Amino acid sequence: MDKHVATVIDKKFFWHKALDNSKECPERLMFIYDNLEKFGYTDKLLMVPSKEASDETICSVHSNLYLSQIKKFALNSNLYAYDKDTYLSEDSPFVAKLAAGSCCALADTIMQESIQKAFALVRPPGHHAEMGRGSGFCIFNNVAITANHLIGKYDLNRILIVDFDVHHCNGTQDIFYDSSKVLVLSVHQADIYPFTGKSEEIGTGEGKGYNINIPVPSQFGDIEYSYIFGNVVQDVVQSYLPQVIIVSAGFDGHVDDPISKINLSARGYGLIANALRSFADKYCDGKLFYVLEGGYNIPSLWSSVKVSLDMLLKDKPDEASFSYSQRAKNIIDKDLPQEIKQKWLVY
Ligand SMILES: [Zn+2]
Repeated sequence: MDKHVATVIDKKFFWHKALDNSKECPERLMFIYDNLEKFGYTDKLLMVPSKEASDETICSVHSNLYLSQIKKFALNSNLYAYDKDTYLSEDSPFVAKLAAGSCCALADTIMQESIQKAFALVRPPGHHAEMGRGSGFCIFNNVAITANHLIGKYDLNRILIVDFDVHHCNGTQDIFYDSSKVLVLSVHQADIYPFTGKSEEIGTGEGKGYNINIPVPSQFGDIEYSYIFGNVVQDVVQSYLPQVIIVSAGFDGHVDDPISKINLSARGYGLIANALRSFADKYCDGKLFYVLEGGYNIPSLWSSVKVSLDMLLKDKPDEASFSYSQRAKNIIDKDLPQEIKQKWLVY
């Protein structure tokens, strides 16, 4: 069987660890890797070697000052000297560079003709990391570094980042806020950490209209997300016609996740993956790149990753059908700025 989904698996990602019980722990990835092996996924996936990003690649997004701060704080005996969540151990700068570099290596793979899809099973996550500041377990912004890598190396100018992690991607938004080359679309729980991501934050200058936030209330789940993906995300893909879709795939909106009040099920994540897959196949040359972000209930993280991978691995997507949700429709009608509706929505 031809392999058409690439991934990176490397036990060196376990080296970034705190000695306490941080929720962003190596066990998240250990459980995924063990199950990939156990259920035969390692034979179905194209394994791409991990690669450490150079300082230069990291600094395509982050400041030199920030990179040197990270290296310095990693030598501090207090792992939380830099930030109360974002611990830094001696190996952390290397592991964070390995995550970013591996994402770039996978992006190179899907720019080839034969492989169109990839899933970066890496850590630490990245979407809260801003140009000059890490937070929320994130050191370097993996998806932003990947997007800049694609722009620099392949001259791309329409990259869509879809972020369905339950938290708003303040870092990714900030980095591309004035750019039209990267459209950032985030669906996240309203009024939780990092308390950004209001719908009126739509970008500035060249980037005005290229930042879309859909904050949703607690208790939204599969049906409401299905409506949003069918009625907003699909339209954005169809109108923007991205050259690649990068997904900040955080699974902490799972109903069993300890840190959110969103009620997505693993099946819901499968519906999202099928939807994104069908949009990518239809409008975007099939190029779809999942990058792991959050997800802190380890068994539900695995089941959500598994169904998403299943959707990417299929020869073709299932017929996409979307639920109707009056509650989700009300949010879109009321909160989504007119400028965003006029620019992107298809009527
Ligand atoms: Zn999150």
